[in-house]
Amino acid sequence: MKRKKEIIDQLKRPIKDLRISVTDRCNFRCAYCMPAEIYGERYEFLDQEKLLTFEEINRVTRLLVSLGVRKVRITGGEPLVRRDINVLVKLISSIDTLSDIAMTTNGYLLPKMAQSLKTAGLTRLTVSLDTLDDEIFRKMNGRNFGVESVLQGIEAASKAGFHPIKINSVVQKGVNDHTITTLTEYFLEKGHIVRFIEYMDVGTLNNWNMKHVVPGNEIVAKINETIPIEPIGPLYKGEVAKRYRQKNGTGEIGIIASVTNPFCGDCTRLRLSPEGSLYTCLFGSKGTDLRTPLRDGASDPELVEIISNTWLSRNDRYSETRSVNASNSNNKKVEMYHIGG
Ligand code: SAM
Ligand code: SF4
Ligand code: SF4
Repeated sequence: MKRKKEIIDQLKRPIKDLRISVTDRCNFRCAYCMPAEIYGERYEFLDQEKLLTFEEINRVTRLLVSLGVRKVRITGGEPLVRRDINVLVKLISSIDTLSDIAMTTNGYLLPKMAQSLKTAGLTRLTVSLDTLDDEIFRKMNGRNFGVESVLQGIEAASKAGFHPIKINSVVQKGVNDHTITTLTEYFLEKGHIVRFIEYMDVGTLNNWNMKHVVPGNEIVAKINETIPIEPIGPLYKGEVAKRYRQKNGTGEIGIIASVTNPFCGDCTRLRLSPEGSLYTCLFGSKGTDLRTPLRDGASDPELVEIISNTWLSRNDRYSETRSVNASNSNNKKVEMYHIGG
């Protein structure tokens, strides 16, 4: 499809990145995302027929690429629990002018799937691993999975040719903040990039409190006590992680300070939920339904108009106005496992 004129939102931000959440299901129960006591055996996740099919996702992605999207990230829930996810990767990777197709995963199923994802055309992988402390990790993932299972996934991905791999670690005060340095040292040695993420008030179920956030500058100070690091510039405008390297010039570490240093001004991300709604902010409460028009036979220009209008009217900047939003207890927000990180 031919490239259309670039569209910009109310705050003059273009549309560049698409995050596709392919499922609301997950094999983990991280307390900060999908607490086990709420998402138990009886919890009803979306039925199969409510999920967008791969063909539908591919069609929406193509239309978004024609509107300026250049990077796609597949996420969830846990993207690797969606059957044949490599088939979707293959479809998307054949879209012209799309150079970057990444995935965020908890890594547990990578030993089985890393090679087929690489073959299908996935270009980059992010694996979430909050700590190397086995006891703490077993508690944090809510399903008693050991660290070793994720390390095997990272190893399999590395063997399949993903390099460097980004490792996401959500830092919670009093939970895993004392294990930051060990995680950093381990992955620096492997040549991967650890990115520490400030614990966010996403969704409505994790009882978030500012007291549990370790500010990005404290994370940097903690690492610096053992591993001297220095800031390096961004690779591109709007990069969410502030980058650091060791003072000897090697390695890379990222800090994502979405709470203490928000980056809404450069936010060019649009999110597609598993059931086909568009969200213009991670903290949005209501999406724009695309599945109904898709299944009612809407033409490409009709879909483009719905997508464009959604982006044109966007004025989200939740993280910059967090204190006001947080005091509004009626604030409804989409859950993180539903639209992905
Ligand atoms: N299941 C996959 C995973 O965990 O990598 C992909 C989906 S998960 C929602 C995407 C990212 O969001 C993960 O790196 C996860 O650690 C992060 N995340 C989830 N809840 C968070 C929270 N409350 N604050 C900060 N990051 C969070
Ligand atoms: Fe699952 Fe990822 Fe949420 Fe953990 S952070 S519960 S792995 S979706
Ligand atoms: Fe983008 Fe919303 Fe996050 Fe701000 S709070 S960076 S607008 S997703």
